[in-house]
Amino acid sequence: MSALEIHAFLCRKDNIGVLVHCEDGTTASIDAPDADAISAALQEKGWSLSHILVTHHHGDHTAGNLELKAKTGCRIIGPQTEAARIPGIDVSVDDGDSFTLGAHRVEVIGTPGHTMGHVTYFMPGERVAFVGDTLFVMGCGRVLEGNNEMMWHSLCRIASLPAETRLYCGHEYSLANARFGLSVEPDNAMLRNRLENAEQTVAAGRLNVPTVLDCELQTNVFLRPHNLGTRRRLGMGAVADWRVFGELRDRKNKA
Ligand code: ZN
Ligand code: FE
Repeated sequence: MSALEIHAFLCRKDNIGVLVHCEDGTTASIDAPDADAISAALQEKGWSLSHILVTHHHGDHTAGNLELKAKTGCRIIGPQTEAARIPGIDVSVDDGDSFTLGAHRVEVIGTPGHTMGHVTYFMPGERVAFVGDTLFVMGCGRVLEGNNEMMWHSLCRIASLPAETRLYCGHEYSLANARFGLSVEPDNAMLRNRLENAEQTVAAGRLNVPTVLDCELQTNVFLRPHNLGTRRRLGMGAVADWRVFGELRDRKNKA
């Protein structure tokens, strides 16, 4: 198995830029929040951009597409149902598709909810997934175009990946997410511990990515609507998981 190098950096205000570099020189940017920041990161690493993998159409994920494409000739891959709204797109992909990046296989998982066409890119050989604005560290994206049931289903698809999968998300919101999570699960010691670690990481100017799926399953309240303490706290009994998820999402929106 050949190695993959991943470089994550902050861009715009709280977007996370991610470069994925294969040993054969293939280099992909996950989304393109900011052409200048991505160009600077490429230069710092000495990598040349060959691909942009777009998770969804929002401007804070596609603003750099055209400038980076003009500069580097990179190929832009993105979700088919949002192709009309993704500047410079060359290749449309959909749930169940796969392609290769260098020698590495990438699987496309449809994760609608935040937007209707949102996709996650999963590299099974490396156990790494790029989840965009679907799952965040100890949190999840806002349900803007889809509905709570759809978003819950998308989160379940990510949750069913191998537990050791490393996750890179689209924004650094970990502190606000952890504090909200503790309001829901005040007795979750692992979550409390994670907040402390995340605070130190942010204070040191670093990012809380990647996160590991197994750790999210234990500390991300949006993946834990089955938790009895949470249901009791919310006054929700034997309802479907997605309803509890939806209540948590609504409360977070107002928090
Ligand atoms: Zn978004
Ligand atoms: Fe975003």
